Amino acid sequence: MQYETVIGLEVHVHLKTKTKAFCGCSTEFGQDPNSQTCPVCLGLPGSLPVLNKRALELTIKTALALDCKVNNYLKFDRKNYYYPDLPKNYQISQYDMPISSNGFIILSSGKKIKIRRAHLEEDAGKLIHETDSSLVDYNRSGMPLLEIVSEPDINSPDEAYEYLTNLKLILQYIGVSDCDMEKGTLRCDANISLRKMGDKELGVKTELKNMNSFKAVKEALQFEINRQAEALNNGERIIQDTRLWDGQKEITVSMRSKEEAHDYRYFPEPDLVPFSIEQNFIDQIKKEIPELPQARASRFIKDLQLSEYDANVIIQDKALADYFEECAKLYKNAKNISNWLLGAVSSEINSRKASIQELKLKPEDLVGLIEEVDKATVSNLAAKEILTLMIDSGKSASAIISEKGLAQVSDEGELGRLADEAIKENSKSVEDYKAGKENALMFLVGQVMKKSKGKANPKVVGEILRGKLK
Ligand code: ADP
Ligand code: MG
Ligand code: ZN
Repeated sequence: MQYETVIGLEVHVHLKTKTKAFCGCSTEFGQDPNSQTCPVCLGLPGSLPVLNKRALELTIKTALALDCKVNNYLKFDRKNYYYPDLPKNYQISQYDMPISSNGFIILSSGKKIKIRRAHLEEDAGKLIHETDSSLVDYNRSGMPLLEIVSEPDINSPDEAYEYLTNLKLILQYIGVSDCDMEKGTLRCDANISLRKMGDKELGVKTELKNMNSFKAVKEALQFEINRQAEALNNGERIIQDTRLWDGQKEITVSMRSKEEAHDYRYFPEPDLVPFSIEQNFIDQIKKEIPELPQARASRFIKDLQLSEYDANVIIQDKALADYFEECAKLYKNAKNISNWLLGAVSSEINSRKASIQELKLKPEDLVGLIEEVDKATVSNLAAKEILTLMIDSGKSASAIISEKGLAQVSDEGELGRLADEAIKENSKSVEDYKAGKENALMFLVGQVMKKSKGKANPKVVGEILRGKLK
């Protein structure tokens, strides 16, 4: 049986605020457990929440960047449930009136994945389970969290992966979150169902949790497609449940079924009075949204003649794209810069496990090196070694070339002398070349290169040899 895969994603991201959503506690990661708490985020009786304005700004900024409609009315609701990581026994969230709705993310195929809503809520604390006891850390309790819910428009694990990658990139570009799944600043729940090809109605879905990378989301979805298809083929019914991805065994395991699902008994949060947001406030935030990744890639292709592939690789790292633009201001052949950045510079970045900012390589120095290659002062190969030395020392290309005597020898007198030697010492190759074997010339060029200790300009050597052997 042929099935269509239907996926909807719920993404939670931590907003990059200095303090929590409804109190003044710090949001800094990795501090001592329970050192960043107060009566509000510990849910002590009598304490009252106050909304963090910055959290609201970042929420609106995200909503606008995702092409959502931003509502001019802010209302919070209580989502009630009992759990040790939730000291108030309710989470402040938004229920029937999310701050924003109806956005979208575009995939490379041109397909639009609609975003149903993006709303502001608070995170819970964190449980740490030990062998015979459990500990709780409330530092995370009350951190501002943005929930972004997609429509079930995603039809494959690959599309889910691309949606997540694009979403993360947008969030990083606008600077609202670091989106680090390992630190838990981005989490994703994936809902998935199958239906017979051509069916209008959605099938019964399962919800997958506990994936700690986008790759894991993709793998969990693929596992679930196979599991559901097999069950349907056997005439079984899919049970709507929440399942945990076990990355070690590479399977999903049922955690709870729909019957055990919570009834959250949402009601309006009485401690936070709803209020109107002035259009002016929203417009001001709109002005702060920088060029988004897809627009940037299009501009690189159109204005700087990059290939679609190169443009899309470069924009994946905002800092690298910024660096590329700095270089492109100083040097006209952007394609050449991109080759250097995606080639030699990227290998330096990888081998040194550093970011482009952490390398001691100023844009003007990289451009300086590329210009030396253009002038044929150094060969491409030598330039790669020079790049390494530049990064080690922070010196410019020209300084290293003169210090180490790395300049290519293009002087015809000097090279002519070396060519004569090579011809004298390799009569067999000379004969072969004269008999029409082009390879033999390459061999002779190699001999001259050796004699010059790699400093000869191979192109010039080739021409000189050709001339002499005519
Ligand atoms: P729930 O009430 O279980 O949270 P929602 O209707 O709120 O379900 O949807 C949650 C997420 O699940 C959304 O991203 C939505 O697109 C997705 N979703 C809803 N129904 C299905 C389905 N049948 N198959 C796949 N995804 C679905
Ligand atoms: Mg839900
Ligand atoms: Zn607090």
